[in-house]
Amino acid sequence: MKNISILGSTGSIGTQTLEVISYFPDKFKVVGLSAGNNIDLLAKQATQFRPDMVSIKSESNIGELKSKLNDDNIDIFFGEQGASNVASHPDADLVVSAMVGASGLKPTIAAIKAGKDIALANKETLVMAGKLITEEAKNRDVNIIPVDSEHNAIYQIIKISDKKHLKRIILTASGGPFLNTPAQEMNNISVASALNHPTWKMGKKITIDSATLMNKCFEIIEAKWLFDLRDDMISVWIHPQSIIHSMVEFIDGSIISQMGLPDMKIPISYSLNYPDRLNLGIDNASPSNFTNLEFKEVDTAKFPSINYAFYALKESGTLPAVMNAANEVAVLEFLEGNIGFTKILDTVKKVMDLHDNSIEYNYNTIIDSDLWARNKAKEVIYN
Ligand code: MG
Repeated sequence: MKNISILGSTGSIGTQTLEVISYFPDKFKVVGLSAGNNIDLLAKQATQFRPDMVSIKSESNIGELKSKLNDDNIDIFFGEQGASNVASHPDADLVVSAMVGASGLKPTIAAIKAGKDIALANKETLVMAGKLITEEAKNRDVNIIPVDSEHNAIYQIIKISDKKHLKRIILTASGGPFLNTPAQEMNNISVASALNHPTWKMGKKITIDSATLMNKCFEIIEAKWLFDLRDDMISVWIHPQSIIHSMVEFIDGSIISQMGLPDMKIPISYSLNYPDRLNLGIDNASPSNFTNLEFKEVDTAKFPSINYAFYALKESGTLPAVMNAANEVAVLEFLEGNIGFTKILDTVKKVMDLHDNSIEYNYNTIIDSDLWARNKAKEVIYN
């Protein structure tokens, strides 16, 4: 039996993780759940999976959660510390890190410090503090298994190959809903159309990040840290069908890819049960599911986010954390209808340009830079 704690249990990855776990009650036990403000769903999940502890974002919701749970055997915590308690539950073997954005950083570090293996969906933590996280994981002999479909694909390929012969990785990108939208129409995009992703059903923040290709920008940085790659070993190809989840090219010219219909339960189950695979009952190997696979270069004039990734990697230091924080603020402002679509990337670029980068960093300087970037992003948007 493998004991699992989930950070972000009510989100898209969290709920799908619990769905996979529910298929295999003899393999997995949920010991901790952490969520944000969705008290109803968290209470429902806790009633079904009976963890030892749960955590919510705000202290003011504890009373409501307590009455909904009506179970004195479940400890209730709140806030960043509460999520960190769930992450470092003494019995947890694996922590699924699936909170949204920067909020996942501290609990993920807590899990690594407690020696827990990580199923990582929260890519922003590696964007913000990739060096710190991967060093800490190495020191504590912690395995970080990527849930992100592209990185999960590459992880699977590298596990059956010889990494020393790797030439480069090719991250595939669907291109999002605006792949073929003329550049001059990009600022008239509505929130609803930006939330309508052509191939993946995901949470709101990552769906907007997919529409701006900031998600791919983060995935470039995520890949660097997960697989210890030089910047020139990472490429991105547009692949609108989202069937090939990524590829690895080896020095002899062989390219190995991992494919399947887009379904996050596949990488989730792989991460939960690594190194063994689980029978999910998925049967999608039919030629009609895999027709007309297309690949093309990214139009970086329309989607400059890809350039930001390589610039942030080259500069490193606190700049990637600044890029992430500015994006989080801008995405929220777009979702609230306060700014146009192209203003998201404008804001990210402006805040990055204004940042006084510090090459050496630790947890505190990352948090300071994150805060600085959030304030600067608001200034850029409202002044
Ligand atoms: Mg992805």
